[in-house]
Order: sequence, then structure tokens, then C-alpha cells
Amino acid sequence: MTVKVAIDLALDRLFDYEVPEALKEKLAIGQLLSVPFGHREARGFSVEIAAEPTDTVDRSKLKAVTAIVDETPFFSPALLALVRRIAAYTAAPLESVLRAALPAAVLKKNARAKEQLFVSPLSATPEILDAMTKRQRWLYDNIVRLGGGWLAPLCAELKTTPASMRALASRKAVDIVARARRRDPMGGRRVMPSRPLPLNEEQAAALAAIKELAEPAPGDSPSAAHPSRTILLHGVTGSGKTEVYLQAIAAELEKGRGAIVMVPEIALTPQTVRRFASRFGDKVAVLHSGLSDGERYDEWHRIRRGDARVVVGPRSAVFAPVANLGLVVVDEEHEPSYKQEDNPRYHARDVAVLRGSIEGAAVVLGSATPSLETWMNVRRGKYSCATMTRRAGLGSLPIVHLVNMQEEPRRSFFSGVLLDAIRLRLERGEQTILFLNRRGWSRSVACEACGRVITCPSCDLAYTYHRVDDCLRCHVCGGWRPTPRTCPACGASALTYRGTGTQRIEATLAKCFPQAAILRMDADSTSRSRSHDDILSAFRRGEAQILVGTQMIAKGLDFPNVTLVGVLNADSSLNMPDFRASERTYQLISQVAGRAGRAELPGEVVVQCFEPSAPAITAAARGDYAKFAERELKDREENFFPPFCHLAVVALKAQDFKLVSTWSDMYAKSFSAFAEKNRSAGLVVSEAVPSVLEKADGWYRWQIVLRAKSAKAIVAAWRTILAHRPPPKALRCAIDIDAHNLA
Ligand code: ADP
Ligand code: ZN
Repeated sequence: MTVKVAIDLALDRLFDYEVPEALKEKLAIGQLLSVPFGHREARGFSVEIAAEPTDTVDRSKLKAVTAIVDETPFFSPALLALVRRIAAYTAAPLESVLRAALPAAVLKKNARAKEQLFVSPLSATPEILDAMTKRQRWLYDNIVRLGGGWLAPLCAELKTTPASMRALASRKAVDIVARARRRDPMGGRRVMPSRPLPLNEEQAAALAAIKELAEPAPGDSPSAAHPSRTILLHGVTGSGKTEVYLQAIAAELEKGRGAIVMVPEIALTPQTVRRFASRFGDKVAVLHSGLSDGERYDEWHRIRRGDARVVVGPRSAVFAPVANLGLVVVDEEHEPSYKQEDNPRYHARDVAVLRGSIEGAAVVLGSATPSLETWMNVRRGKYSCATMTRRAGLGSLPIVHLVNMQEEPRRSFFSGVLLDAIRLRLERGEQTILFLNRRGWSRSVACEACGRVITCPSCDLAYTYHRVDDCLRCHVCGGWRPTPRTCPACGASALTYRGTGTQRIEATLAKCFPQAAILRMDADSTSRSRSHDDILSAFRRGEAQILVGTQMIAKGLDFPNVTLVGVLNADSSLNMPDFRASERTYQLISQVAGRAGRAELPGEVVVQCFEPSAPAITAAARGDYAKFAERELKDREENFFPPFCHLAVVALKAQDFKLVSTWSDMYAKSFSAFAEKNRSAGLVVSEAVPSVLEKADGWYRWQIVLRAKSAKAIVAAWRTILAHRPPPKALRCAIDIDAHNLA
């Protein structure tokens, strides 16, 4: 008997070992083994067990496994199969995927959480209450209100000392005990249990469709590959998707199965967690980037033991060791944060679908603005779809005004409509959010007079400005032109490389409304003085009437007193040099429009733009997703972009400019030659271009874009060419299949 072992050395291969007689009975795949490697002992996971080594190795030379470190496998056969599929698909070394799938903390010794002191309130008798000082009574009341808490954070929150807490304990008003502190969704506090809400018709239909998918077809064996059980839950903001998830999960728990809920990291707020914890209590495990090693260790083991059956977390939660998985929910499935930008460059939504098919679990993709990849899968009949068009709770959808800035006085930031609307809010004591859709990381060139951005004629995508040689380059086809001095569309000499900053907006606003208090939130303001949360809570408390900010404020905000949202330059994201620019713009505007007016106050949204007739803008203003998707898919098909192809970015970097430019050109030519020779693969190859961030941390960065009908064809080309011409040590090469970042 031999075993293939993945050793954590970023070597893109497995190693064969002989299994000694004594270990034969106990050996299983997914276990952590100790094996001799060179002159030392190494650790690795058993990946495959075979009677004979599959490679042409000399069996007599095989070394033997030294020991099984932990008999309980860290990876179930299903998870191991998943990991191997991802490694093959993304062209990433298997160990890198294993590492991504298993938190490092889990393998650390001594990561078990230490005991800490927890304060819980006792029910105090009238005598005890009478004996308290005024200050103690205040403390006691607050501890009761909070449901207790860990000693140190509780003292900080109530601005008191451990000594005062002990004084309360000696009065038998509270109890202080040492407990193993595990990351629990509510930080040790009790959550009010919540009961399922009666569903409206649309919700009930969606739930029924999910339950049907989750039901195994007769004759299904748990290990067989299943046809897709994926459903898109297409519901407007506030249509009650979360309530549907909760009830679908409850149904799975009843059947003894578990569930994973993925949310974008930014949306993993205490409110989100509370909604799950209040329905499922202790059965919920929360994974979070802020967990300590100990907390991560505990949560992971709670999941593996089956104590926690519902896992809530960001993209890496897709690998949670939930046994007997019934359901995976990917909330806001269109969010770019589901794509990992480092090795392994997987997309958590796609991994969820794959895991569902391997384990026979239903997969729910929830969004108000689905990604076009998902939408296309619905249209092709691969996924089913449930639609929710109405708000479930209070509040109606806001009124949206589109304002054409070309008809406004030149170079004014605010349209008359918006100024009037702000004035009205100030008079009524309501609040306004102004949202600056910044051109972001890209540096495209726009005309301040007509608002147009200079685009590549063959790809219809914004050119990227390259300062080094003062020219404009297309990051998809590699075409370029010198930077013009005047706008090719209107002739004005008002070309600019930068979008307007939030500081300038804030200053101008202060001049227009000297009586208003204004808060600003962007990367600068948050890193410098107050934190993100400080600014938001000040705004929530009504310390300011207007909040100005970038993308940061577009997400997950729910202010009851905000009745006006202004989007200042809605179309600037339309001009990012990225084929998803329209999609992102659509999502951004819908998201903003969906946020306003959640409470009883009716909401209003003013969208300012230079191209009000752009389909992404008009459709978003009307909330007409189907229309937008139809139009956008046509464009994508014509230009051979995803979802009609797979697009990969080959990223090359070196500290020597000459080295990276020469090799990038050479590789681009090799890919082209490969495409010529293997025409059936249908590979489309760009020229090599410097990346937007041409030089970062002393590294020069270049890229090549590859497109083909199948991702496999791209990986095959990549492997062939790298094997034929291995890069020199000083050159780093990586491939990003289904890239989301074209920079
Ligand atoms: P989504 O996740 O689609 O944005 P939510 O699940 O957050 O929507 O629901 C929006 C609001 O509607 C929440 O306050 C929720 O409690 C409420 N809600 C959801 N379903 C119902 C229902 N069936 N009846 C009453 N209120 C509901
Ligand atoms: Zn081009």
C-alpha cells in the first residue's frame, strides 16, 4: 500500500510513500502525516491511497510514512475532492489550496483558547438592590441590560474597573466565573431568540423552491456527483431574502443536516450575526477575519465535531468542515470580494456551487443585482431562479431622479435638483448622504467639459493612462495611442486624469450650506483621525446633517433619518478599463437606491451623471435588471467577454524593468504561437502591457490577457508554455483564471 502526500512546500506535486504494516488499518485520506523528506521530517496531508504508486517510481526506493499525527482527518473525502478540483481549475499548487481551506491556527499546538473571566448578572433581591450605592445600581442595571460580558471589555464599555465588578459580585448581584472564551457570535451575551416570520407569497414560493432542490432525488447516493442544485434568489433589497435563508436552514437542521452562509466580509456586521444567532443560538459558528488563533481553532473544532451546524463567514467559510451539508447560501453573490486575489485565486461563489454538486447540497445565490455569470447560468437552465420583487417589511422603494450634468452650469458639482433636495432636508431636520463614485484605482482620461472618457475603439473600454511614456493603453487588447491634448469628442482642452476628490466636494458643500454640519468618510479621513465606526455613529446620532463619502458608504448602511441619497458622478465607474464596468455601475446605483427610505420616511435618490442614457444608468434608476442584463450580455457576446468566455490575466513582475518587459513580450508571443497551433482551443491572446500600477514596491508589473471558451484550455496553454520556457528566478509569474481585477 502506498499513499500520496501533499507536503507544505509550495512544490506543485505530490510525493509517494510506503505505508508500514502497523499503520495500514488506521490510514485514511485527509489525515495529517509525518514523513521523511530529505534529511528531515516533514508534515503533509494524505491525499490518495493506492495499492501501487501511480508514477513510474522505483518502489524499492520509496520511504515509509513515519507516523499519523492526527487520526481524525482534517479533510473529508468530499472536501479533498473539492480542493483538488480547485487546484486544477485555478492552476494553483495543491498545497496552496489545502492551506486556504484549513485555517493555519487549527494546526497550531496550544491554539486552544485560554480561560477568561465572564460576568453574568444574577437576579438581585430587593434587599441586595437597596444595599447598593447609586453607582453600583447603575452598573448593575447596565450589566443586566447587556446580558453580561467578558470582564475586560465589559469594564471598558461601562467605564469601570474590575474592582467595582468584584464589589458587585461580593454583593451577590453578579457572578464572575472563568470560562473558556470561544468566539461566540454574541461575545458571550444572550440573544433574544427570534421566531420565523410568516412569509409573504413570493418568499413562500422561494422557500418551497429551495426545499425542493435540497431534497435528494430518489436513488441518489451521497457520494455520487449531482446535477446542479443551484438556485438564484433574485430579490430586491429588503425583499426578505435573509428570512428565506433562515427558514431554509431551519428545514435542513431538522433533517439533521448543516448549512454554510457566506456574506461579504464588509457585511459581516454584528447585526447580521445576530439575525442568525437569534434563530439558531449555539448552533451558529462565526468565522471572521478578526478572530484570534485560539478563537479560530475553537470555532473550527466546534464545526468539525458537529456542535455548530450553521457556519456564517466570508469567502473562506466555503471550506468549513460541515459534515452532512444540506445547504450553502452565498449572500450578495455578485460581490467582488468573493474572488480571492492571492494564490489560490478561487471565486468562493463558484467553489460553493462546486461543493454543492460534490456533496449533494443545495446552493442559494442571493442578490438584488446578480452577476452576469450567474444570470447567464440561469438563462442556460443550469441554475433555477426565484424572484422577489416587493419589500417584505416597512418602507417603500425610493423615488429616483436622473440628472444630466451636461445640462447644468459647467464644472458645478451639484445640480439644481440636488441642491434643492438637500435644502429641503435641512429644513425638515432629515439627513443626506452624498456618495462620490470615484474613478477608483484606474487612471483614465476624461474631459471635464463633456464628461466623456477616452476609450479603445476596438474594445470600447476606457484607456488607462501611463505616465511613464504619456500614452493611453488598452488593458484588454494591448492597443495604445499618445495622450491627446484636446478631447476627441468635443474638442475642449479640459482633459483630466483624476476624478474629483471628496475633500473638494466637502469644501464646496460647506460654502453652499454654511449652516449644516458635514461629515466626510473616505480612505484618508478614516485612517487619519476617527475610525469608520466613529464617523458612522456620529452621523447616526445626528451630529451632522450631511455625510460625504466614497464607495465605502455605499454598503450595508441603514440610517433611519436619511431620506436623501445623492450619487455625484454615477457614470465614472462606467469608464473603468474593465469589461465589468457597466455591471459594477449598475450594482452600485441599485445598491444606493435600495438603501434609502428603509424606514417609514419616504426616500429620494438623485443620480447625477454625464451619460444619463447609458443603459446601466437608466436601467438602474428604474430597477430594471432584466433589461440591463439583456443589453449587457449582447455587448459581452459581441466583444467576447465573460460569461461568453473565460478570461485570465497572466501577471509578471520583476525588479528589473528590462527583464520583465522582454519576458512578457516573449511569453505573449509564445501564447500567440500556441493559439495558432491549437486553433481548436480558440485562445485569444493580448499583447503584453505594463499593469496600471506599473511599479509597486520596487517591482515592475506587466500582464497578458488570455481568453478562451474553456478555462481548461487556458490552463493547458499556461502549463505548456511555462514548462517549455521556465521563467528565470528573478521573474515572478502567476495566472489568474476568471480574473476580476484587470489592473
Ligand atoms: P433582504 O435580505 O432581501 O435585503 P431582509 O431579510 O433584510 O431583506 O428583510 C428586510 C426587512 O423586512 C427586515 O426588517 C425583515 O425583518 C423584514 N421582513 C422580512 N420578511 C418579512 C415578512 N415575511 N414579514 C414581515 N417582515 C419581514
Ligand atoms: Zn482594446
